[in-house]
Amino acid sequence: MDYDKIFGSLSSWNALLPRNKNPDTGKYVYRVVVSDQEFEELTKVTTEAKCNNCNDYCDYSEIQIRDTVLPLVDSILSGHEKEKTWDCLKCEHTNRLIDTEIVEDAIKEPYFLGVVPKYPRRKDGLQDRHQYDRKVTQWAWNFIAELEEKSTQFREDYKENAKEFEAWDEEIDGGEESE
Ligand SMILES: [Zn+2]
Repeated sequence: MDYDKIFGSLSSWNALLPRNKNPDTGKYVYRVVVSDQEFEELTKVTTEAKCNNCNDYCDYSEIQIRDTVLPLVDSILSGHEKEKTWDCLKCEHTNRLIDTEIVEDAIKEPYFLGVVPKYPRRKDGLQDRHQYDRKVTQWAWNFIAELEEKSTQFREDYKENAKEFEAWDEEIDGGEESE
């Protein structure tokens, strides 16, 4: 497998896509962002706890779960002296952990993030070649899917606003900006 060729041709495809930027976010509209950090940020799974008072969700890793001593009657009824509780980060209501709905917030496939991680690096010369091949193949297909999505998006936008794009094209032909 010629890795450099794969990495090279995918980057070229990306670079061939128009470099229109979204004026609000400053991000490319039709290009795929290659960034480990942004990819990680977008794909991380967050676990959230739902507050029973305000119905808002709190990041589970940020709430503090503590043992609360139960009032006498509750203690007699439940047969426990203590109970796990947490305070809502938004309204400060104390929730019982046992009554709390815990949800995992993950992106569902199929999805297009517009972001891919950097190409897989080989940790050392000893790493299994087949394993690395598989990794690269998986990475490449994912990148291709994102590039196809961006290309389609561009073609559709272009069909609808051909005049605007032509005006924009003339504009950049005059003063080629460097990156
Ligand atoms: Zn709350």
